[in-house]
Amino acid sequence: MNAPLTLEGVLRPAAADQAAAAAAPWAADFPILARPVRARRLAYLDNGATTQKPQGVIQALADFYEQSNANIHRGVHWLSQHATDLYEQARSRVAGLLNAPNSQDVIFVRGTTEAINLVAQTWGQSLAPGDEILVTDMEHHSNIVPWQLLCARTGAVLRHARVTDSGEIDLDDFRSCLNARTRLVALAHVSNALGTVNPVAEITRLAREAGALVLVDGAQAVAHAPVDVQALDCDFYAFSGHKIYGPTGIGALYVRASILQKLAPWQGGGDMIHTVSFEGSTWAEGPQRFEAGTPNIAGAVALGAAIDYVQSIGLPVIAAHESALLAEATERMLALPGVRLVGTARHKAGILSFLVDGIHPHDLGTILDTEGVAIRAGHHCAMPLMARFGIPGTARASLALYNTQADIDALVAGVRKAQKLFGV
Ligand code: PLP
Repeated sequence: MNAPLTLEGVLRPAAADQAAAAAAPWAADFPILARPVRARRLAYLDNGATTQKPQGVIQALADFYEQSNANIHRGVHWLSQHATDLYEQARSRVAGLLNAPNSQDVIFVRGTTEAINLVAQTWGQSLAPGDEILVTDMEHHSNIVPWQLLCARTGAVLRHARVTDSGEIDLDDFRSCLNARTRLVALAHVSNALGTVNPVAEITRLAREAGALVLVDGAQAVAHAPVDVQALDCDFYAFSGHKIYGPTGIGALYVRASILQKLAPWQGGGDMIHTVSFEGSTWAEGPQRFEAGTPNIAGAVALGAAIDYVQSIGLPVIAAHESALLAEATERMLALPGVRLVGTARHKAGILSFLVDGIHPHDLGTILDTEGVAIRAGHHCAMPLMARFGIPGTARASLALYNTQADIDALVAGVRKAQKLFGV
C-alpha cells in the first residue's frame, strides 16, 4: 500500500488503495454496525463526534468489572494491586500510542476538553496581564473557551491566526501574531470541521523561536494516523478515548516531563497528595498529582484495549484506508450538482464538510437519517470558523476504519434523494 506514514504525509492514495477501501474487514468487529437503523443498513459517518466500539473494548469493560474491579493506588489487597497494575498498564499504552518518552508523562482525564482546562488552570496560573495565547480560527470551542476564561482571570490576551479560503492556517498571519509576549500556541492537529491536517511540527518550530509553548488538540488525530509527540516537539498533547474506539469519560493529556514536574495541582482530594495536615499538604509526584479522587479505572483499562486494537491493525494501514475512502467520497460528492466542499486543504484527514445548494444542512442530515446514514450537521462546535466562512454550519461526513464504499454509496444516494425531494 502507498500508505501515508504520518498525518503530515501526503494523503494521495494509489488506485490499489482505493480498491482496498471497498472492503473494510474490521467492520465485523463492531457489533453496533450490524443493527439496522430506521430499517436500513447503518452507514455511520459521524465518527468525528464519537467512534463505535469494537467487541474487544466492550469486553474489556465488562471483564474489568467481572474480574478486576477494586479501587487503585490505595489497597493492600490483591484485587486493588491488580486493578492498579491494569490502570498503569493502560497509561503505558497511551504513552506508546503517542510515543511519549515515559508513561509518567501521561495524565488520565475525562477527555480533550478536560485536558485543555487542566492546562489552563495549572500552567495558565503563571500568566500575567499582557501575556498572549495564540490559537487559530479553526479551533473547536474546547480550545477557545478555556483560554477565554483564563484570560478573564489573568488579564492575558487571546489572539487567533487566520485560516485561508481552503481551510489551512495562514502561516504569514500566524507568524505575524507570534511575538515575545506569546506564551502558548494552542491548535488542533486535525480540524474537526474541515479535516485539515495542520503542520504541527513547523508550527512548533516557529513557536519555539518565539519562546512559546505548544499545546496540540489531538481529538481528531490519534485514531487516524500515527502521532509522535517527540517528533512534533509539542509540550502538551490532548485526546479523547471515545474518538479512538474507547469508552466515553476517559482521555489523556501528555505533558513534557520538565513542565509536568513544575505544574501545581488543579483539583484537590484523595490520591493526588503525599501528606495532608491542617498546617498544609504536600503533593504526589508525577501524573497522580493531577488525578484527584477515584478515576475512571475501567475506562482507562478499556482505552488501553482500544489502543491495542488500533495498533493490531496498524495506524498507517488505517490512514491509508481512510485516505482512499476520503478521495473517493470527495470525487463523488463533487460530481453531484450543487455540492460545495468547505475545507479543501492539501493535507486532509477523513472529514468531508459540505454544503448542498438549496438544502439546509439540518434538513440534509434529517433526510440522510431516514436512509440510515448518520452524519453531523451544524457548526461542529467551531462557531468562529463558521463565521470566518460566512455560513451557519455544514453537513459533515467523518470516516473511521470500519467505513466502506457501501457507506459512501449510501451517502451519495442520500444526498441525491434530498436534492430530488427539494427539487434542486
Ligand atoms: N477538539 C476537537 C478538534 C474535537 O473535535 C472535539 C470533539 O468533537 C473536542 C476537542 C472535544 O472533545 P471531548 O468532547 O471529547 O472533550
